[in-house]
Amino acid sequence: MPSPIAHSTTGYAIAAFLRTVTRGRLSVSPGYAILIANAPDLDFVLQILTGERYHRTFTHSLTLAIAIAASFAYVTRKDAFKSIFWLTLTIYGSHLGLDMLSQGGQGIQLFWPWLTTDIISPIAVFPSVRHGLGLWSATHLIFISFETLYSLLLLKLLRRWQAAQQPLKRSSKGNQKNKITPHRKHM
Ligand SMILES: [Zn+2]
Repeated sequence: MPSPIAHSTTGYAIAAFLRTVTRGRLSVSPGYAILIANAPDLDFVLQILTGERYHRTFTHSLTLAIAIAASFAYVTRKDAFKSIFWLTLTIYGSHLGLDMLSQGGQGIQLFWPWLTTDIISPIAVFPSVRHGLGLWSATHLIFISFETLYSLLLLKLLRRWQAAQQPLKRSSKGNQKNKITPHRKHM
């Protein structure tokens, strides 16, 4: 599975992309996006406390993704339930997607509780994070370098795309002004 580097950047980028595309109708803070993007891996705490396998089980399922999205949307913004629900679900879902695209490991229990089979993509994009090697293993440089490059590329693409939206916004504002001016003169 990827580390919080890739999960955080992906969550942040999805939130920024949807905010721009919907002109602010779908909007959450970057901190919220990063928290939701990493939330499924909190199952680590349960695994450490109990010694049982919990990692990539129920917290990595569509069922919990929907439950978390509905709960957060209800608690944070009842007035914008639908938008916060879909935004949270998309960001939480990005974590599940990235985990399935990682090298090694056994996959995730995407369809828990109906099916506890581990699901993994046949195509691996992200190098595995090998927790068993300890915190300071030089092997970690592989995933750190890959995920840093992925993050930089994703953020660069996002900035470019957002910059390309600016002239469109300005020209639409300009058109609005042009529409208003004759009306004002008329008054
Ligand atoms: Zn995970």
